[in-house]
Amino acid sequence: MQVVFEDSRLKPILEKVEAGGRLSYDDGIAMYRSADILALGYMANLVRERLHGSITYFNVNRHINPTDVCVASCRLCAFGKKARDPKSYTMSLEQVWETAGIGWSEAVTEFHIVGGLHPELTLDWYCQMLSGLKERFPQVHLKAFTMVEVGYLSQRAKISIRETLERLKDAGVDSLPGGGAEIFCDRVRRVICDHKLTGQEWLETARTAHQLGLHSNCTMLYGHIENEEDRVDHLIKLRELQDETGGLVTFIPLAFHPDNTALSHIPKTTGFLDIKQIAISRLMLDNIPHIKAYWIMMTPSVAQIALRFGADDIDGTVVEEKIYHDAGATTSQSLRRGDLLRLIRKAGREPLERDTLYRPVTRTESTFTVLV
Ligand code: SF4
Repeated sequence: MQVVFEDSRLKPILEKVEAGGRLSYDDGIAMYRSADILALGYMANLVRERLHGSITYFNVNRHINPTDVCVASCRLCAFGKKARDPKSYTMSLEQVWETAGIGWSEAVTEFHIVGGLHPELTLDWYCQMLSGLKERFPQVHLKAFTMVEVGYLSQRAKISIRETLERLKDAGVDSLPGGGAEIFCDRVRRVICDHKLTGQEWLETARTAHQLGLHSNCTMLYGHIENEEDRVDHLIKLRELQDETGGLVTFIPLAFHPDNTALSHIPKTTGFLDIKQIAISRLMLDNIPHIKAYWIMMTPSVAQIALRFGADDIDGTVVEEKIYHDAGATTSQSLRRGDLLRLIRKAGREPLERDTLYRPVTRTESTFTVLV
């Protein structure tokens, strides 16, 4: 079939995509500069269907944020608070375990655990938290800690990143969620998050985790002060890491939510950019198996459309989301399993419940089995 694109500059990219070739830095820039979203979607959908057919993954998970107290003051953040802030909170170990149990009513397969950089909680405290969760919920996968938290825990414990990851793994961490990557470019990080690790350090931490047999996801925060070159550079650095380790499972593009941050003057991203970002991610990251349309961030409606523009995953039930909601997200804090099934089916896609590592899950209402 002869495909006609409105933007003829995308034609050479289509030829590469059809041949299964790798896209270059310049291809990435050309795609960001094009407004031909249907052409981008067509190409991204080709890749998506080549990899996954019509299958669309989701999971039944619960987010747990043990504390919002944070020693850093990233300008991008509406979540982290100082310990003296009366609105800040820190859960006790018992509260973490109890919170985890509340999500259990739907037989969650994953706890997604991230939080602030607390000046007093020690690596031992986190290890106790993890082993307590494993003891109470042995079949639930623990996807825990951004690379930033791992770096901070290693600093506080005065041990290497490798040793920190080994301790966390021994205590129960099964994989890492991939947060804190933001945009790797130093110029941008100096403005949006100069208190956290560098892009190079994020990549090095992920590399070490992969070497230890821990898979991770990866992310990119877009829609603030970064430019198109910074985005392409970020995607290519992730692609290079994946060539080396093969440890990245899913890429999650995260739109910047400015409300209640020090960058609140920046307008929110548009649905057009959100969809375009999904398509370009699918096309540039040829070696990362999954692209997630994170409904909390995109809204369920836009995430549903993204399933035709390169995304093969819509995330999970979540149960209680704090980080994006502190930054003004107006989406619900949770969806039921049935809501996700409906969203996916109404997009003409075939839903498949997965565990964190994309193994199919079969279930009754209160129990599940991971098919291995
Ligand atoms: S982005 Fe993370 S490290 Fe930065 S202030 Fe917020 S919680 Fe702390």
